[in-house]
This record gives sequence, structure tokens and C-alpha cells, in this order.
Amino acid sequence: MAKLVYFFGSGKAEGSSLMRNLLGGKGCELAEMTNLGIPVPPGFTITTEAWAEYTNRERRLPDGLWEQVLENLKKLQHVAGVGFGDAKRPLLVSVRSGARVSMPGMMETVLNLGLNDTTVDGLAAWTGNERFALDCYRRFITMFGDVVLHIKREAFDEQLEAVKTRLGVKTDPEIPAPDLRKLVQTYKDLVQERTGAPFPQDPEEQLRLAVQAVFESWFVKKAIEYRRINGIPADWGTAVTVMSMVFGNLGESSGTGVGFTRDPRTGEPHFYAEFLSNAQGEDVVAGIRTPEGIEGLQSRMPAAYDELLQIADRLERHYKDMQDIEFTVQEGKLYLLQTRAGKRSAEAAVRVAVDLVHEHVIDRDTALLRVRPADLNKVLHPRFDERDKARAIAESRLLARGLPAAPGAAVGKVVFDADTAVEWAKAGRTVILVRPETSPEDIAGMYAAEGILTARGGRTSHAAVVAVGMGKPCIVGASDIAVDEERRQFEAGGVIVREGDVISVDGGAGDVMRDAVETIQPELSSAFTEFLGWADERRSLGVRANADTPEDATKAREFGAQGIGLVRTEHMFFAPERIAIVREMIMAPDSAARRAAIGKLLPFQREDFVGIFRAMDGLPVTIRLLDPPLHEFLPNHQEYKQLVEERSRLEALGINADRQAKLTHLINTVEKLREANPMLGHRGCRLGITHPEIYGMQVRAIMEAACIVAEREGRVEPEIMIPLTGTIGEMKLTYEQAKRIADGVVAETGVPVKYSIGTMIEVPRAALIADQIAQHAEFFSFGTNDLTQMTFGYSRDDVAKFLPDYLQKSLVPADPFAVLDQEGVGEIIRIGIERGRRTRPGLKIGICGEHGGDPSSVEFCHRVGMTYVSCSPFMIPIARLAAAQASIREREAGSGAARG
Ligand code: PEP
Ligand code: MG
Repeated sequence: MAKLVYFFGSGKAEGSSLMRNLLGGKGCELAEMTNLGIPVPPGFTITTEAWAEYTNRERRLPDGLWEQVLENLKKLQHVAGVGFGDAKRPLLVSVRSGARVSMPGMMETVLNLGLNDTTVDGLAAWTGNERFALDCYRRFITMFGDVVLHIKREAFDEQLEAVKTRLGVKTDPEIPAPDLRKLVQTYKDLVQERTGAPFPQDPEEQLRLAVQAVFESWFVKKAIEYRRINGIPADWGTAVTVMSMVFGNLGESSGTGVGFTRDPRTGEPHFYAEFLSNAQGEDVVAGIRTPEGIEGLQSRMPAAYDELLQIADRLERHYKDMQDIEFTVQEGKLYLLQTRAGKRSAEAAVRVAVDLVHEHVIDRDTALLRVRPADLNKVLHPRFDERDKARAIAESRLLARGLPAAPGAAVGKVVFDADTAVEWAKAGRTVILVRPETSPEDIAGMYAAEGILTARGGRTSHAAVVAVGMGKPCIVGASDIAVDEERRQFEAGGVIVREGDVISVDGGAGDVMRDAVETIQPELSSAFTEFLGWADERRSLGVRANADTPEDATKAREFGAQGIGLVRTEHMFFAPERIAIVREMIMAPDSAARRAAIGKLLPFQREDFVGIFRAMDGLPVTIRLLDPPLHEFLPNHQEYKQLVEERSRLEALGINADRQAKLTHLINTVEKLREANPMLGHRGCRLGITHPEIYGMQVRAIMEAACIVAEREGRVEPEIMIPLTGTIGEMKLTYEQAKRIADGVVAETGVPVKYSIGTMIEVPRAALIADQIAQHAEFFSFGTNDLTQMTFGYSRDDVAKFLPDYLQKSLVPADPFAVLDQEGVGEIIRIGIERGRRTRPGLKIGICGEHGGDPSSVEFCHRVGMTYVSCSPFMIPIARLAAAQASIREREAGSGAARG
């Protein structure tokens, strides 16, 4: 007969921490604490294997289980010195759930089991406290009624409230014994009425039903939902721990509390706890009474307090991590009821990990693995106060949900266009820019805004990419909102939000809320810097930044970038004084006019590059030549409509022929450049081939800037990157054109700047012929935004239309524009790397799509042997940590990947 029950008590336990999967977190740690000699009430744990058998046998208790339970119950009575169902000195037990990972509040617990009409009087006489015994009994009926008999708790609570109202008292302890006795009778009547049977009086039957109910609680809706969200397998199941009750509600020398060995909000190394005198644990957890600080225990029961602190310290050293403990003091004597690794804020996670290294409790690798890279976002950006956000949602202030494109919390007044955003921001107001989608002209408004919300677009749509780069909270593709630009309002779920109304935007979760939600500002601690320093020592993968301006470059270096992996030169064209020249270039009637316009752009570009090279102080800077289709720089849909209207008006009035001609030219150009599928159209190197003078100007600007900086400062490393190549012909031609101009500049200036020319791999075909591409490319950078778009065939700008459905139906495991699809897109990357390095061993290879800042994607990049990842400046700390974790895990697994 398999052993299905494990005993703990009197300083000895059959289980231990090592048996977590079998005994659940709670059960195994109670066993461990017992073995450590920490005061724990005795009890026994029914294994998860028993649960599995129960589940497999159509919810019947496994053979022999009950005999083992009764045997252990006997032992328990012996150790506790009391009898289960004994009329004079009754043993009461708690029946508690416990999976191998903590699922807070998701499964059930029954306290005070063993009470009935006889034992309640025994307990009263024994403790000399009738009120206490009756209070236990009414709590027991409530919990048993709720968990086992499925009578809603509210039905009992209503009766309790009615008694309090009748007596004119506020708290439970104020209800005198005679009224409690009446209340118990009311509860029993309620059970009889709802179930058609009396409240079970036989303690063994109570126990059997409760064990079964706790087994069943694995299947309640909230638990299933929690498992789905947290990726917990459904077949892990729960253990059940039955342990002797200790009572915190035995009067003023008793009480109960929960505590953390360090402050879970900040990580500060002091005991942080809440305590309630004369209460049972459920009162603390349920928030029925407001607990006092731990000072309540310290002043009333100093000996128990000292002992608690000593135990907390001991547990932390034993488990080598901050602990979250539950304790009860019964008439001055302390008992521990639970210990587990404490949940903590991101800030605290870093602080605790660093402090534990300094205290010689853990080593640096362990510390690095303790912090989830994505949580660093919470340290780097403002965030919402969770309670206030929960309140906002409870008050039905959630307006809409969209794709969480750039993390952080922003609160501000709604504006609907970039100019108003700039104007209001100048006047000192904080604004949220709300647009149907964003276009290049919105850049100034995006800079001015605290946060950005769009109704359309995907994570790698323009708004998202720019917002991530700026470190601004951004939600895109919030299709529940209908933006009415003309009336300057949007509508969401029947609510109208007008210009000037306040909204709150949670860019990390994708939630849009009405009115202000409280925010918490981030603070970078010295622990954070030290921690990331350790990550740098561990990682072999380089980390660079995507940055388009000298300011971004400076920020990137502050965050620890080792170079720039992507300068999107087109972003430099968006400034108001430049876009006019860009338009002049696009609309030029002949090549002379085009050259003249291009000539005007050159000094701007050169100045930007000088600034970026300087900021990077000799570190490599990859500058991509113009990529987007030209029509992106022309008037957008709305403006186009206005132009057509203006022309019709002038035509009808027969006035201003000059303006009419200009409008006609502009309208014709827009028409001419319009493409059915711009993302697959005239863009990237295709532009460089049809308009070689544009790429020529950019290469010249890069090299002239590099020569200026090299001459003055000595150190510069430009990398010229051709976007969107797909054929060997494209690669060869653009490479040769760029090289001719670059060499020309070096010869003209006489400054011997070393440079390289490489390409982005964004078209699947390029990866497949990477061996040929590498003949003419000195480095590769995977543009995984486009590569994902082209591999899946999902438009990156329109994906929000169907992605939420796909996610909800689990058709894709995650947004592939946020988390790299290792199976498909990843396979193409592997092929590209392998073939590229076949031609050019040691080829420098990076990634510059948005995936460069996503932890699981960074780990993948490490595994496939990339040289570096490149991401927005604000993502750099995340990439540094993720890269370090990848190295540590790889070493732990004992394998190594070749790196170029
Ligand atoms: C990419 O496609 O991954 C990339 C970095 O380029 P962009 O997002 O500018 O198209
Ligand atoms: Mg691209």
C-alpha cells in the first residue's frame, strides 16, 4: 500500500522541503520547520498522489487512504494530548490546501473542524471561555457551509451583521456569548434549510467531507483561471494538510499575524508584519478588521515577539530567501503556521537579492536568477498604485483594453492632435495623446505627451516603436475606442471622453481608465546599479540600443549600451523644419531639383551623426539607410481629403491659380506614390536602388560626420546598414554604391576612418541565401519586426484587428511581434546565422527588432550565437539581465554555443 499520508509533530516529521511536489508547498515546509525544531502545531499531510488517484477514480477516495488518515489522527491526538470528538478536551483541526506552487486564495481551507454541539461545550468548559468556543463554532459552520456544503458565505454573514446591528456593536468580539449561541442555532437552521439535512455532528465525517472538498477546490473556476494565467499544469493537484488548531482568539494574550522577513515593498532588511490580537487567521486575510503593526505583539507579548524575530531570521537563513510567514500566539505561546518565499515588488526583488549576496547567504548567480528581467520595467518606469488601480476597475472606470506597447503609467488630459499636445504641455498641463493611429507628424506631440493611446496599430506599428524608444507608456490597437477627431472626443463602451478629460493609461497592461489613478515614481537605487554590474560580468551577449538622436544615445549609454544597433534615419526627417525639405525632395519635378533638396538635408543628417558618434565615444554605431515608403512623409489620409476639398473650392470660385497648381501637383504625387501594400512595396533598399542619390547623400553624411569626429576625438566606429535586402543583386549593388561613396569621403578628407557595410535580414529569402548575402555584407542585423511580419504574413500595422481573438483562443502563445516565435521565425534566424557564417566565419550578427528587449527572445539570441541584441534604451537593463541569465542557465546545463 502506497504511503499517502505524512506526519509531522513533536520535533519530527516524515516529510521535508525536498518533498514539495508530493506534499505541496505548505505541507513540505511545515515538515521542514518541524524538523528544524521551530514550534509548529502537529498534523499530517495527504499527498498530491492521493489527489491524483482521487481524480482518476472519478472522485472517490483512494483505497486505504482513510485508514492511513485515521492512523495519523490517532498519532495526532496522542501528540496533542487531546481527543478528536472528545466531550471534555476536544482536538480541533484545520484542513488546508497546498499545491507545489503557491496559489494565493485560490483554493479552500476549513478551520476549527471537530466542533459539534457537544465538543463546543467541552471547549467552553476547558478554556473557561464560552464566548471563545461559540465564536469558533460559528466560524466553523460558516467555513464548512461555504466550502463543503456550497452555501454562500454571504448567507451566514448576513445573519452575523443582523446580530451586530441589533446589538448596536461594530466588531465580532463585541457579541456576547448568549447571542453567539443563538447565532449558531440560526446557522444550523440555515444548513438544514439549504441542504435538507442537519449540520454533520460526527467529527470523522466532517473530516472526510472537508478533505474531499479541499481536493475538489483544485477544480473551482478561480483556481482554473489562475493556473491558466500562470501556466500551472492542471495535473499537479493539491495536497491537504490537517493540523491541530491553535487559537489566536483566546483573549488578549492571543493573536495572529502574517509577516515578511524583509519589507516586500522596498526590500529593506527589517521585519514587516501585521498583527491582530484576539483573532483567527481568516480575520487578517479577509481584511475584516484592520490589523495593527507588529508593535501590538511587541508591547503585549515581548517574549513571543523576540522569539518570532529569531525564528524569522533563522528561516531566512535556512531557505536563503526572504520569507512570508503566518503565525499565531495562543495565550502567549508562539506557533508558526506557514512559511514560503515572499512575493515582493521589483524594487524589493533587486534589493533583497543584492543584500543576501552581501550577507553571504547566496552567490551572485543565484541573485541574478532571482529577479525576473521583465519586472525591471517596473523599476524603470512610473507605475500605478495597485490598490488604486483595482479600485478604479471596481468602480467600472476601465474604459478599454488595447495592446500593451510600451510599459509605464501615465495620467493626463486627453488631446486629439499633436499641436494641442505641444501647446498644452508648454502651458504646463500633462496630456495623453489619443489618435486613431499615429503618423510621422505626430512625433512632436508624442514627445510632449505623458502617454499615447491609439485605436489602431500593432506593437511594432509606428506609434509603438517610437513610444518605446521615448520610454513613454503607450497602448495601441485599442479597438474598443472610437475616436471622433472632429468633435474632439472618443467613445468607449457608451462613455464619452472629451478633450481635456483626464484618463490613466497603463502601457504595461494595456488598460485605459477614466480619471486619475495614483502613480508611483521609479527611483534607481545603488543596489540596482550593482546588480546590473554583476549581470554584465556574467553575460557574453552584447547589448546595444536602438537610438535615433544624440539624446537617445546618451540615455542609452547611461543604461549601459555597448553601442547602437539601429539608428532609424527616417526618424531624423520628422522634425518640422526637415519634413518640408523631405517633401521637396519627394516632389521634385526633375533630378536637378531632387539633388538640390537632398543637398539641403545633408547638413542636418551630418550634424545628427556627429552628435550620435560623440555620445557613443568610439563604440560601434549602426546607421540604417532610409527604409519606409516615401509616401509616409506626405500628407496623411485626413490631410489629403482637406487638400482635395481646398482645390475643389478654389476651382469653383475660379481663384488663386498658383495655389491650385501646387495642390494639383501635391495631390498627383500622393496618388502616384500610393501603394496597395506599402509594407511590401517601394521601401528599404528598393528605394536606394531607384533613388541612389538619397542613399548616396546618407552615406556621405555618415562618413563626413565620422571623419569630423575621428579627427577631433579620434574614436569612431560607423556601420552602414542596408535595409530589407532579399536578393544577391540588391546586396551587391547597394554595397558597391555605398562603398564607392564612403571611400570617396575618406579620400577627400584624408581621415582614415574604418567603417563597415552590412545588411538587415528582414525578408525570409535573405536568410535562406545568407551565404550569398554574406559575400557582400560585413555584418547582419535581424530586423525581426519585418521578419515576423513576412514569415507569418501578418501586417504589423493591422495585427490588432485579430490578435486579441487569436490570443484568447490560444491560436498563438503570445503576440509574435513582442515575443519572438522561436519555432518559425527563430528557425529562419538559425538558418540565416548558420549560412551567413559559412561564408564569413565570425560574422558579427545582431537583432534590432522589438524582440531585442524581450527576455525569452534575448535568451534565444544567446543560444543561437548572436553577437548582440539591440533594443530601446529603456529596455537595456532588461536585456542585460536576460543575457546574464541565459549565460548562467547555459553553464548550468553544461553546454556552450559558439559566438561570432
Ligand atoms: C525590423 O523590421 O525589425 C526593424 C528593426 O526595422 P523597422 O521596425 O524600422 O521596420
Ligand atoms: Mg524593418
